[in-house]
Amino acid sequence: MTIADLVIENVNLYSEGGIIHSGVAVKDGKIVVIAADRYLPPARNVIDGKGQHLLPGGIDPHVHFRDPGKTERETFQTGTMAAAAGGVTTICEHPISMPPPYSPELLKRRIAVASQQSVVDFAFFGAAGADKLEEIPRISREEMIAFKTFFHKPPEGREEEFAGLTMANDAKIYEGFCAIAKTGKILAIHAENDDIIAEQIKKLRKAGKVTGIHHAESRPPISEVEAVAKVLCIAAETGTRVQLCHISTGAAAELVKKAKQRGQEVYLETCPHYLLANESALEKLGPFAKCNPPLRKQEIVDDLWRYVQDGTVDLIGSDHGPFLPSEKEIGYQDIFTAPAGFPGIDLRLPLLLNAMKSGKITLKRIIELICTNPAKTYGLYPQKGAIRIGADADFVMVDLERAFVVDRQKGYSRSADTARLYDGLLLYGLPTMTIVRGRVVMRNGIVAAEDAGWGQLVTVSK
Ligand SMILES: [Zn+2]
Repeated sequence: MTIADLVIENVNLYSEGGIIHSGVAVKDGKIVVIAADRYLPPARNVIDGKGQHLLPGGIDPHVHFRDPGKTERETFQTGTMAAAAGGVTTICEHPISMPPPYSPELLKRRIAVASQQSVVDFAFFGAAGADKLEEIPRISREEMIAFKTFFHKPPEGREEEFAGLTMANDAKIYEGFCAIAKTGKILAIHAENDDIIAEQIKKLRKAGKVTGIHHAESRPPISEVEAVAKVLCIAAETGTRVQLCHISTGAAAELVKKAKQRGQEVYLETCPHYLLANESALEKLGPFAKCNPPLRKQEIVDDLWRYVQDGTVDLIGSDHGPFLPSEKEIGYQDIFTAPAGFPGIDLRLPLLLNAMKSGKITLKRIIELICTNPAKTYGLYPQKGAIRIGADADFVMVDLERAFVVDRQKGYSRSADTARLYDGLLLYGLPTMTIVRGRVVMRNGIVAAEDAGWGQLVTVSK
């Protein structure tokens, strides 16, 4: 029998929809044996899992790492170290950088930086903007997994970060979708109606209503629901494959459910914060709870859960959005001036495991939402997304019984200080080890900076 590089034994291993008490052997970064411990081959390195759970490594379908342009907020190194800490073994980077990757040249530049710095594997979204339509067919032939666009004009002061990344009116959306449809790639969309929002903000500001909670008021559910209806309509007309990012309302999810029933190809993503927090956090934390779309009222949160449970939601992404504390703090004077987003890549899995403890979600559903479905959506399966023979040896070991208190000061994100939404919360379910293609990159919460550069580009499986 050949000697394996790594054996992990004495674990409750999640494979093919169920848990088996067994182990796994790894050779050249791939899973070569899944078997009861006594049938595992000898190995250079043996890890005793001590009865913990071994799950497929997480794939985060939605993160923002800022390099190039705003490395003081996050780099590929710090962002992927945070990923490893939270059991994420592949990140999918959404463009918002300076400039965003709207051309093959810009994409290659980002791939080069990520290759040097990343601890975990990475895949890229390309930017799709109505102002750079000619670049869409060019970049679609490069090593990217999907496109991303926004339906609003670049936010004030962030013009360079949003170049080539927006379709800011209906005519441009239609034109943009036509161009993307020809590439056959998925278009991921930040779907909010900017006209409704701009008018609301104007009114609220005039009335002096500029505190945290007014952010939620400025982006009512209809601003999401209308934009989702438009996406579904134009995507059906143009034959565009679409992903709706960070959906925050059951009403929008219901539209997607109906579209799926009609046979439309559409993927629905939500984030932990739309399921586990509500708008009261905006009163408490002001700009540090500001994200787009905003946190919603509890009854909307409860409604959204139904679509997680019934299978309508395909993906849960963190929408990891790092900013400097100083950039967020200006929102205490006027909430509308603060940027939207906060870090969260390291807490996606623990938050969902904790929700499982209270009976909100099953382990099977968690694995679908954060591992298997992201891999399948972007064509990374079966290389990624499941513990199977021949797949990359990407794992996260978790101790489901171990509780821990979230402490933002321990975070690896460069913007960890702004991760305040769950700070101080007691969670059950601790990731204790993260393994990327057979290499341990996190052990007991510690990620070594020397592993920067281990991460590799992942692209659509041929
Ligand atoms: Zn985002």
